[in-house]
Amino acid sequence: MNAPESIPTVEAIEAAAPAPRRSRQARVAWGSHVVTVGGDAPVRVQSMTNTDTVDVIGTAIQCKELALAGSELVRITVNTPEAAEAVPHIREQLDRMGIDVPLVGDFHYNGHRLLTDFPAMAQALSKYRINPGNVGKGDKRDRQFAQMVEAAVRYDKVVRIGVNWGSLDQELLAQLMDDNARRAVPLGVKQVMYQALVQSALESAAVAREIGLNPDNIIISCKVSGVQDLISVYRALSRRCDYALHLGLTEAGMGTKGTVASATALAVLLQEGIGDTIRVSLTPQPGEARTQEVVVALEILQSLGLRTFNPSVTACPGCGRTTSTTFQELAKQIDDFLRAQMPVWKARYPGVEGLKVAVMGCIVNGPGESKHADIGISLPGTGEAPAAPVFIDGEKALTLRGEHIAAEFHKLVESYIERRFGAVTGAVTAAH
Ligand code: SF4
Repeated sequence: MNAPESIPTVEAIEAAAPAPRRSRQARVAWGSHVVTVGGDAPVRVQSMTNTDTVDVIGTAIQCKELALAGSELVRITVNTPEAAEAVPHIREQLDRMGIDVPLVGDFHYNGHRLLTDFPAMAQALSKYRINPGNVGKGDKRDRQFAQMVEAAVRYDKVVRIGVNWGSLDQELLAQLMDDNARRAVPLGVKQVMYQALVQSALESAAVAREIGLNPDNIIISCKVSGVQDLISVYRALSRRCDYALHLGLTEAGMGTKGTVASATALAVLLQEGIGDTIRVSLTPQPGEARTQEVVVALEILQSLGLRTFNPSVTACPGCGRTTSTTFQELAKQIDDFLRAQMPVWKARYPGVEGLKVAVMGCIVNGPGESKHADIGISLPGTGEAPAAPVFIDGEKALTLRGEHIAAEFHKLVESYIERRFGAVTGAVTAAH
């Protein structure tokens, strides 16, 4: 078909890809387990517990759950002397369970005292989060900040200087507001706020370096709760420094809102090469597992093609051409099955995380999409013959019919994985 003259010919289209990241690299370590953050390291996933840190067993179990879900660093709050005392015991419990995920201590207000008075806690943590807005006021501020950084230098720990606009250094903000008022053309309040966030982080980093902290051991964050604000602040931050950046929308919210807002903000920045470790600050819905924030973080990175964690299931949204329940159920079953198996499969079948499965609702896009997957099924739409062609490695392999299409496809996926990714140690026990 010849294109009408008014439509220009489409030239080769450049493939989209995240821009390269150019930060320094921090090494967050526990024993021989090192999690690199920044530089050429993959974008890391981290999370935070919501247990009372004093509850050693409860906190250790949640750390384990978060780590097994894919969190490469886990942060715990260290807010009281009792919590500080609990930290080495949490670490011991994790070591006993074979979980070597590095722990990050979250400090506000009294971190200088806790890090000084509880050396076993200071050692058991692999990284300290210091919020410059909550370190102290007036002349105490510098001394208390120095005390925390000195602990990091003494124990060779990484520090995240984590500024948050909910707890921004009010003295700095007031000073910048005054300076702004004296400008011939004053900036807007938001601009001054952005400036304060970035300046607070970078000035604190400069002070930490003067005290003796290796710049590679500094990670920066400037968290805000608005998507456009986060993008503005991190673009500014990344232009002004080469520290590894911890990226996250603070107080993202619950459920769909929190998930979408986090994904939207993080995707824009990660695509620009900004951000070396991410945390999705989701408020769990009643009854929802804390690990949901890790699931979302992994999905963001995998959707952007930055990392591959789990096999992906492509499913059509369904429409009036199909009876929705059959293929929705099958897509969910396959997705749940693949996720449940991953902890075992990762070790047994190297590369299985790159598997692509398609579950489609009818003939319109079913065969085409299924051919793009490693293994895919095109279910019969309303009025179509009750047959479901299965495509393996781009070729139609067989057609399933009858009542048990779902169970049979399930088995086909299992045997494909065994065949393709090498079942060296025998058959896999499926946990449905
Ligand atoms: S593949 Fe078929 S059922 Fe699925 S959305 Fe497209 S037309 Fe609808």
